[in-house]
Amino acid sequence: KPPIIVSELATRMGLKPFVLLADLIKLQVFVAPHQAIEPETAAKVCELHGFIFEREKREKGGGVHKIEEVVVEPEKVQDEPEDVLQLRPPIITIMGHVDHGKTSLLDYIRKSSITKGEAGGITQHVAAYKVEREGKPVTFIDTPGHAIFSDMRARGADITDIVVLVVAANDGIMPQTLEAIEHAKKAEKTIIVAINKVDLPTANVMRVKTQLAEKGLQTVDFGGDVECVEVSALTGAGVDGLLELLALQAEVLELKANPKGNARASIIEARVQPGRGATASVIVETGTLKVGTPFICGPFAGKVKSLINDRGESVKEAKPGTPVEVIGFDEMPNVGDSLVEMDNIRAAQKLADERQLDRRNDRLQLTRKSRMEDLFSNV
Ligand code: GDP
Ligand code: MG
Repeated sequence: KPPIIVSELATRMGLKPFVLLADLIKLQVFVAPHQAIEPETAAKVCELHGFIFEREKREKGGGVHKIEEVVVEPEKVQDEPEDVLQLRPPIITIMGHVDHGKTSLLDYIRKSSITKGEAGGITQHVAAYKVEREGKPVTFIDTPGHAIFSDMRARGADITDIVVLVVAANDGIMPQTLEAIEHAKKAEKTIIVAINKVDLPTANVMRVKTQLAEKGLQTVDFGGDVECVEVSALTGAGVDGLLELLALQAEVLELKANPKGNARASIIEARVQPGRGATASVIVETGTLKVGTPFICGPFAGKVKSLINDRGESVKEAKPGTPVEVIGFDEMPNVGDSLVEMDNIRAAQKLADERQLDRRNDRLQLTRKSRMEDLFSNV
């Protein structure tokens, strides 16, 4: 029987070999991409990614040579079994032109969701937070711009469920509004428009709607299907309507995740804090992230030392859709990378070493390539 080579198996599932290596390490199988694994192991790894492992007999050349091949087929249901899935909060990303009121809107939502006694906790900047409206949680990401949005998507960390496009009613559509529309469309996200600053005497809602329609975003009252609300982050007018719309939209999307599986979280912001070292704001995508969890994150291994929620409180765990600050990195992780739970720190460290080696090799090859190009460009 032909051997089952890790990199080959990865290719057949449309995955990068290191993804399988990470799975294999969890199964205590330590191999390199060009090495072979046992069929039982292959079967387990395939299952993790929603594939069934089968060895198919194929006849070649009139049955003279019998060649057995590794074949993987997508399972019908790629997702987790229904019964382990639970509803999770929608993840909302706010986009729009600079100064159109994104931060003000988020601040208003956050402040109005926090009772006076807790107000102390909101002075500090957080990258993401969860608010509740009528018992239904919604998670907002406060990003410095849409660069981070496409950046994260490029890294495969596509965690946004709904995009709220903020357009100032006095200003109308501006260059960054257009960019935001483009990004959201490319990512196939539901866009909800919030026309902000309607308190200003120069506000012109109709003009904004006309401009939106010209750009292919027909609002409902223009006969299209784009939901649109008029708000003022200054007075708070219309903000509750926006939250209601988001909750409704989230219900339609029926967003679910398995809180029991291995934890995976997406890094949305990273920084070094005095006394805490490197910390990262993450949003848990699946599983439950707990204090003590060993993890791999890009080329770095670590262990969750402590978790701090969006109100500055220390918590023991974070469930899917929840933003949380993670302390326990040796080095600052990269925005957009995924933090993935590992069985033990040893396995995490081994994978980290491999990834670092991989990256060094990649860089080396790039350098060689550009040197070669330099060489030829001078000919
Ligand atoms: P961002 O760059 O999109 O995050 O915009 P900011 O939230 O920083 O707001 C830019 C400016 O617009 C600030 O001076 C805000 O006070 C002001 N602003 C934001 N929302 C409103 C609003 O609804 N009405 C009025 N009048 N001013 C607003
Ligand atoms: Mg801002």
